[in-house]
Amino acid sequence: MKDLSVTEKISFRTLGVLAVIVVSGLLLFTMRHKPRPIEPTPGMETSRRLWVRVLLFDNMKEFALSTPSGFTVLDGDGRIAAQFTESCGAVLVAVLEGGIVIGEHVFGNHVRIEPDDPFVFGVNNEAYRGHVQLIVASDGESFDVVNSLPLESYLAGVIGEEMPSYWETEALKAQTIAARTYCLFMKARFGARREWDVTRTQANQVYGGIKSESPMVWDAIRQTSGCVLVCRRGDGEEIFPTYYSSTCGGHTEDSSHVFGDSYEPLRGVPCPYCEDVARRSFFQWPTVSFAAADVSRRIIERYPRFKSLERIVAVEPGQVSEYEGFKRNGSLRLVGVNGRSKTLRAEDMRLTIDRTGKKIKSNSYEISPRGEQFVFSGGRGFGHAVGMCQYGAEGMARRGKDFKTILKHYFPGSSIRRVQ
Ligand SMILES: [Zn+2]
Repeated sequence: MKDLSVTEKISFRTLGVLAVIVVSGLLLFTMRHKPRPIEPTPGMETSRRLWVRVLLFDNMKEFALSTPSGFTVLDGDGRIAAQFTESCGAVLVAVLEGGIVIGEHVFGNHVRIEPDDPFVFGVNNEAYRGHVQLIVASDGESFDVVNSLPLESYLAGVIGEEMPSYWETEALKAQTIAARTYCLFMKARFGARREWDVTRTQANQVYGGIKSESPMVWDAIRQTSGCVLVCRRGDGEEIFPTYYSSTCGGHTEDSSHVFGDSYEPLRGVPCPYCEDVARRSFFQWPTVSFAAADVSRRIIERYPRFKSLERIVAVEPGQVSEYEGFKRNGSLRLVGVNGRSKTLRAEDMRLTIDRTGKKIKSNSYEISPRGEQFVFSGGRGFGHAVGMCQYGAEGMARRGKDFKTILKHYFPGSSIRRVQ
């Protein structure tokens, strides 16, 4: 191993365009996060059919690839294109004239990088498990970075992002089964027609790779290994989209009002468990207001069918679910300056006006005009409220309920099955 202070710059002879920067040692793996040794990635022997493909980055131009081991590069047909027998520190990966360049080597428009034991690689400063595929976009200007890895190793990078890893073990186990089922559902529904199964963002489940792992999360995964939720469908059983969100505010919501799909376990249940556990600002969130002109512009930009309203000047209730002590909007009727109106799902409106979802925290609120503003008041809950209420799950676990009881409560009629 060379001196860590040495940085070599090698001119890119063949192409004369790029410089490759090689940093010796495992700098990227040791300079960030907890100084925990990286354990070998479990499950590498499992069938690739059960692996998960996570879209890490799209439209990427270049990144620093690092591995603590050697690695193999395969071409789009799965043939070995190159082998790097020992750690190369960090090497520049880039796109050039429609192909992928790794260090000084030029490949085609689709490569798969398979690190040796412990099956870990780094993209810039973040470490991930499994393999990584690089797929050049049709214009040849950028590429997608897709991490494929065993399902359980994927979950290790998800659970701690979606729920605090210091929460009760039974809540973490319930979360793990919900996340595992959700991932397999998305893979089955969308994976066949694209190069990846899920994104690493809130659009699916937040995945942070190795930095998000913890011993508590790994324990929850091992204790529920391969377990998923199923519900009756026709004559058989099926996995279903096991949605979850932070704080329901007292009652979970029927999925048909939010996502438009209807499964028996997603009809909504009372939740007396999150009130005592959730942050006050999650259970009842403060009044927020947005300029009416911005609300109108954002909605029309995102949904061109609202152009015919010209400018949105009023918002009226559409479908509303009524629960003890509060209501939740399923849809809203948007009224234009010309008197026309159209309906929009409340969840779509909320995330269009406030992309972060952190101001208009849920769909439970009253909306009223005040001057040039729309005011959202009486807000209750955090998230879409479909499926498992995470603070409620923690509340149940603190009351001594086990993960099976928690899942049965939030997904009534569902059963746990083992898939691998
Ligand atoms: Zn709740």
